[in-house]
Amino acid sequence: MNILILGSGGREHALAWAVRQNPKCDRLFVAPGNAGMESLARLAELDILNGPAVIGFCEENAIDLVIVGPEAPLAAGVADDLRAAGLLVFGPSKAAAMLEASKSFTKAVCDACGAPTAAWARFDAAGPARDYVRAQGAPIVIKADGLAAGKGVTVAMTEAEAIAAVDDAFGGAFGAAGAEVVIEEFMAGEEASFFVLCDGTDCLPIGTAQDHKRVGEGDSGPNTGGMGAYSPAPVLTQAIQDAVMAEIVRPTVAEMARRGTPFQGVLYAGLMIADGRARLVEYNVRFGDPECQVLMMRLGAQALDLILACAEGRLAEARVTWAEDHALTVVLAAKGYPGAYEKGSEIGGLDGLPEDSAHMLFHAGTVRRDGVWLATGGRVLAATGRGASLAEARARAYALADAIDWPGGFYRRDIGWRAL
Ligand code: AMP
Repeated sequence: MNILILGSGGREHALAWAVRQNPKCDRLFVAPGNAGMESLARLAELDILNGPAVIGFCEENAIDLVIVGPEAPLAAGVADDLRAAGLLVFGPSKAAAMLEASKSFTKAVCDACGAPTAAWARFDAAGPARDYVRAQGAPIVIKADGLAAGKGVTVAMTEAEAIAAVDDAFGGAFGAAGAEVVIEEFMAGEEASFFVLCDGTDCLPIGTAQDHKRVGEGDSGPNTGGMGAYSPAPVLTQAIQDAVMAEIVRPTVAEMARRGTPFQGVLYAGLMIADGRARLVEYNVRFGDPECQVLMMRLGAQALDLILACAEGRLAEARVTWAEDHALTVVLAAKGYPGAYEKGSEIGGLDGLPEDSAHMLFHAGTVRRDGVWLATGGRVLAATGRGASLAEARARAYALADAIDWPGGFYRRDIGWRAL
């Protein structure tokens, strides 16, 4: 098969690494990709938000399967365009991607199918939203309804903070994404992520993970796209996973099918676990980054078989072959991230690192100029290890990270602390 992956981050590098190992994969392309993937795939300069451009590329290169990495092309309807052109696609339609693109949509789906989640209300004006905050009191959670690049959520510990967040959203801080605001009950507990492939009808769990969102050690400082992750997440016991499938995931998939907008792709459920019960925090409609790195490290070549079964509607007969293993990834970011950071600093020590089923350095933001590796983004590399225990996976990930000579970068030393 000839396969095209859309996206350019560490998530897409990990997908390319897993897919490449499967003998079914002939030619592999990533658009636009990054320099770290060049040994695995051909990079294609393509506007991945432009459906006709992607279709043209697929026709020229006899592509048999398109795997969509990030949410933006899904929310833009690129998967719909590709399917309408007769292509096989992994990733939901624009209508089904609403499960990520609109918080109030997801809340309404949860209510319709009885999935446990925080109590909520939706507002399109600041006055009633402020009144609601005052009536409910803090802590309380204020969310811009639309896609706000992960920045539209305020977990307000005081009423004043909540009112300020309401005013920010309606004042245009998140653009159109904040024209509607969802206000939610605060849920206490431990967060974890659960990944389930769905083919519109059937669902297959493919792993659990936990990530570290804060920039600083001990989970301190501002939020980031994610500074590290590990899989599996010990808090998501088999009993809780079974309950999440029965009470949250299957009902959601059935409700989406009932509405005539079946969900096909990976449903990433962000969960809050307290007292042995999970409630839904949010859905994403694609793999997380860096959670994808640890999931792919554990799944390896079978990831392509599972993705294919999903895209072809054959999940009922698909199975995951589990190894009793663990994976952990450490994100290396440019100094200053998530605030202002410098681009273009030189990264040494990248050539000659071990690359095997237990060690992999995934690139998210690098270029190679005249043989020299340069950092081009905030989150730049994900040093990933796999092992028989989480401690072993962690030791391997840190051995990789420590071998990199990047004075312009930094990483947290405590990834996995909660599970260890
Ligand atoms: P979301 O984009 O909806 O996942 O929200 C981002 C983060 O805010 C989540 O990962 C949680 O840490 C936190 N959060 C969101 N909703 C709630 C809630 N109802 N209660 C507590 N924390 C929340």
